[in-house]
Amino acid sequence: MNNKLYGNLIFELSHEGRRGYSLPQNKYEHKSSELPATLRRQEKAQLPECDEMTVVRHYTNLSLNNFGVDNGFYPLGSCTMKYNPKINEEMAALPAFQNLHPLQPDHTVEGARTAIAALEHYLCRLTGLAHFTFKPYAGAHGELTGLMVIDNYHRSRGDEKRRKVIVPDSAHGTNPASAAVCGLEIIEVKSTANGLVDLEDLERLVSEEGTNIAAMMMTNPNTLGLFECQIPEIAKLIHDCGGLMYYDGANLNPMLGVCRPGDMGFDVMHINLHKTFSTPHGGGGPGSGPVGVREGLQEFFPVVSPYHGNFAVMMRALAYIVTLGGNHVKEVGPLATLNANYIKESLKDVYELPIDGLCCHEFVFDGLKDKSTGVTTMDVAKRLLDYGYHAPTIYFPLLFHESLMIEPTENESRDTIDGFIAVMRKIAEEAKNDPDLVKSAPHNTPIGRVDDVLAAKHPIVTYRQLLNDAD
Ligand SMILES: *Cc1c(COP(=O)(O)O)cnc(C)c1O
Repeated sequence: MNNKLYGNLIFELSHEGRRGYSLPQNKYEHKSSELPATLRRQEKAQLPECDEMTVVRHYTNLSLNNFGVDNGFYPLGSCTMKYNPKINEEMAALPAFQNLHPLQPDHTVEGARTAIAALEHYLCRLTGLAHFTFKPYAGAHGELTGLMVIDNYHRSRGDEKRRKVIVPDSAHGTNPASAAVCGLEIIEVKSTANGLVDLEDLERLVSEEGTNIAAMMMTNPNTLGLFECQIPEIAKLIHDCGGLMYYDGANLNPMLGVCRPGDMGFDVMHINLHKTFSTPHGGGGPGSGPVGVREGLQEFFPVVSPYHGNFAVMMRALAYIVTLGGNHVKEVGPLATLNANYIKESLKDVYELPIDGLCCHEFVFDGLKDKSTGVTTMDVAKRLLDYGYHAPTIYFPLLFHESLMIEPTENESRDTIDGFIAVMRKIAEEAKNDPDLVKSAPHNTPIGRVDDVLAAKHPIVTYRQLLNDAD
C-alpha cells in the first residue's frame, strides 16, 4: 500500500494545467459568447487537474484499502459475509436481464418473470411457506412488510385491538424498530441463562396480553447462534391466543436444507437474500428481503415498493441455489455449523464463552477470558486488522458487555480458519505480555483508531467543508 499517496485527496494531487485526456476540438467554442453573461461561469470550476497515472494510482490505492470477502477472511457475525460466487455476477449481468426497463410491457419480460417464479418455487421448497413477494429491498424492509401482512390479516377479521408484538431480548434491533414503524407496540420476552427464550416468561405475557397479541417475532438460530428448540411449544402458545408467528430469516444459513420455518409453525418470514444466498452487501447494500407467507395470507401482501424489487440480487440468489442444487444446498448449514463450532472450541480456553454448548453458524464470546489485562473486545478487533483480518461483530448482541460475535460461514477452508484461530490466540498472548501493544492497535493500517462517534455525528463529506473547517 502506498502510504505516501493515501490520505491525499485527488484535489490535493492537482496541478494547474495537468491533463490526462485530450478532447476533440470544440466546434461550438465561438458560440459560447452567445450565452447570456449571467449563465456564464465567472471563476474557473474547482476540478482536480491530474495526469492519467496519478488518477489511476490514486483510485487503485484507495481500492486496495478496501476490505472485502475477496481479499480476506471476514467473520462478521450476524451479517453472513460469505463468498459470492462469480457465476452469480455473470448471471445477474446477462444483457437480457441487465438491460430490462421496469416499464417494459409484461409480454416482453416473460423470461425475467419466469426466473422470479423459479426463485419463488425454490424459496417455498426451502422454507415450507407457500408464497413470496420480492418487493422488499432488505431484511428490515421485509420485517416491516411481514408485520403489515399480519396487521392486515387481523384487521380483515375485525380483530383490531391486536397491537402488540412479542420480541425476545436477544433480538436484532431491527425487529422492535420494524414493529414500531408498523405502529405496533413491543413487549420483550426474557432469555434464560442458557440464551433461549424463557418459556415461563412467555406464558406469563400470553396470559396477561393474550387477546392483544398480533405476533411474536423470532429468529432461529437466535442472535447468539443458539438453536431455539422450543419453537413448537412457543408457536402453540402464540397460535392458541390468536397471534401469528414471524420468522426473521437473517439466520436461515445454518438451517438451509436441514429444517424449515414453515414446518416449525412460522406463518410469515423474510429472507435476507444478500446474506444466506450470497450477494455482496458491504456498505449497506444492495439487498433483497423477500417475504414468505403461509397459504391464505398472500392476499394481505402490501405494496411496499414499485415494480419487482431488487431484481439483480434475486438473480444472484437464483444462480446460487441452482448451481448448488438440491443435494449441495443441504451441506451449507452443517458446514457453517461445523466451522463455527471448530473456532469456538479452539478458542474457548482463552476467550470467555458465556454460553457453552453447541452453536449453529455463529457464536458469541464475552471478551478475553483473562480480564486482568484491561484489553477490551474493541482492542482485540483493532489488533485483528493489523493481521489482515476483518474484525468480527463487536458489542452485539447486547446481552454481554464485551460481545465478540464470530461467523465463519461454510465456504472457508480449514487453512483459513486455522490461520484465524492462530491469530486470535496470538492476540490473547499479546494481551497478557504486552497489553499496550493491543490497546494502541491498529499499527499497520493507513489510519489508526478513528473516533467513530465523531464520524457518525459530524461526517465531513465534501472537500469544500474540509477547506472551510481549516479556515
Ligand atoms: C441483518 C439482520 C437483520 C436486518 O437485515 P437487513 O437486510 O440488514 O435490513 C435483521 N435481523 C437479523 C437477525 C439480522 O442479522
